[in-house]
Amino acid sequence: MPLSVKHSRRTPVRLALPWLMGTVPLLLGLFILHWQAERELHARAWQTAEQALAQFNLMLDNVAASTELLLPLAGQPCDGVKLALREQVTRRPFVRSTNVAYKHHLYCNSLFGDYSETINPADYVDGKLRLMHGNPITPDQALLVYRQSMGEQTAMASLDGFHLANALRMIGQGEDLVLQVGPVWLSADGAVHDTPVPAYAVAATSRVSGRYPFSVHTGFAEGEPWRLMMAHYPALFGLLLFFGILTGGVCHWILMRPRSPHQELQRALEANEFIPFFQPVVRGEQSHWAGAEVLMRWQHPREGLVRPDLFIPLAEDSGLIVPMTRALMQQTAAQLAPHADAFEDGFRIGINICASHCQDLNLYDDCRAFLAAFAPGRVTLMLELTERELILPTDTTLLLFEKLHELGVLIAIDDFGTGHSSLAYLRQFNVDYLKIDQSFVATIGVDTLSGHLLDTIIELSAKLDLGIVAEGVETTEQKDYLLQRGVDFLQGYLFGKPLPLNEFIALLANQPDKTTNTLHPVAN
Ligand code: C2E
Ligand code: CA
Ligand code: CA
Repeated sequence: MPLSVKHSRRTPVRLALPWLMGTVPLLLGLFILHWQAERELHARAWQTAEQALAQFNLMLDNVAASTELLLPLAGQPCDGVKLALREQVTRRPFVRSTNVAYKHHLYCNSLFGDYSETINPADYVDGKLRLMHGNPITPDQALLVYRQSMGEQTAMASLDGFHLANALRMIGQGEDLVLQVGPVWLSADGAVHDTPVPAYAVAATSRVSGRYPFSVHTGFAEGEPWRLMMAHYPALFGLLLFFGILTGGVCHWILMRPRSPHQELQRALEANEFIPFFQPVVRGEQSHWAGAEVLMRWQHPREGLVRPDLFIPLAEDSGLIVPMTRALMQQTAAQLAPHADAFEDGFRIGINICASHCQDLNLYDDCRAFLAAFAPGRVTLMLELTERELILPTDTTLLLFEKLHELGVLIAIDDFGTGHSSLAYLRQFNVDYLKIDQSFVATIGVDTLSGHLLDTIIELSAKLDLGIVAEGVETTEQKDYLLQRGVDFLQGYLFGKPLPLNEFIALLANQPDKTTNTLHPVAN
């Protein structure tokens, strides 16, 4: 039963929406966490670089203080100054060796005393600082040499690479931190590199010393924000996942919860799922197709084709029958109009109308719009009103029927014989046709009492000058019986079942004999 279907709207969008609603908060949360982690890494890198800068400035301050002191001694004989050189090594923190030179000739060293080596000031960045892989005494031990000169006098002091690398390790604490002096740089493992300084993918930060010609660089490798997130925010991850699943679940529940029949019908109406089927109405001995009754079907996405008696009563109760009928009339006109050439003149299109559709004049507009889709005279519209649901004769309904007749629309009482319509009623609404209920037709040749009733209805219609349609004709015996009694139009499985448009049009085109279809004269 389509109206109790729980998950009747499994369109791709509806299936995808809960996933979307679930993943959006998750992704948004992850994005924010990632952004937060990046910010934290940037702050950390900045702090690291600042600390390293301060530490190396401090170290070099010590070294510079010793060269400051030794500079005036440069040029004096080594024997006289070597003690002062050694004193600086001993007393100054970080100072590993001291030297004095005169006219670019290094002649005295704190370790050896007399020494001889030519110095090229160009080897020193800004003439002041040089980061070396090692020296002849410790070839594999990095060292940073600070040079201070005044005229011909030069004093130099070296700082052990061990202290520098140690500082890089201690301050860096896991992240990469290097010290750059000119074209070379020192890494935390104590090695000096003459390649370009590493380019860090995340939070790359550089700080240049304002006092000495060196800089420090730090940053993180690709993926570090994710590693940080994994390590620091596992609870938030769990929370995000929880909210993602919750949002997705709630969305799924909202979309898939059972809908009320009214909502389900409303949805189906918006999705154009109510479609017309056409059952031929035939005429005369030859049974040529003189018209069709439009019967609504629900093309349900899951349940397939649904019979009208399963949903029409609900549509009537919910008030949706009126827009549904209107949509059906529009669809019918749009579908039949291109094939109207195959119709006889006055081809009768029967539409089932319920009482609530007759409470205002909108039905008049609906019929006018329907007829406007066809050339004048090509089709005759017949509204079928079931006898079980009689319309109250108010001013509006009487005016409506009057206007409908002016438009050439015929009124038929459907299922005639099952309700209580009086003669006065038939006259009041100016009824044109009676549709004999199929239960009477089914009794032909079977039940004499009902057969008598059928005959009475046929006679009555003749007396009242009403046209007559017999529905539910299934056998040739029924057909012959009705034709003998002058019943104008016949409808039933004997001639054709309700069909979708293409099949109906294909069969209509194959009709052998098309004589002119003039309507039974009706008393108006
Ligand atoms: P109805 O207006 O009396 O329509 C005739 C019903 O009898 C149709 O059933 C048709 O398929 C069926 N029928 C036709 N020939 C034979 C036959 O030889 N033997 C048998 N056993 N049945 C035959 P369907 O299409 O299931 O429609 C059922 C009812 O639903 C209709 O009865 C009508 O009251 C209602 N209905 C259908 N479409 C609409 C619509 O668009 N609007 C409204 N308000 N009601 C509709
Ligand atoms: Ca009908
Ligand atoms: Ca009927």
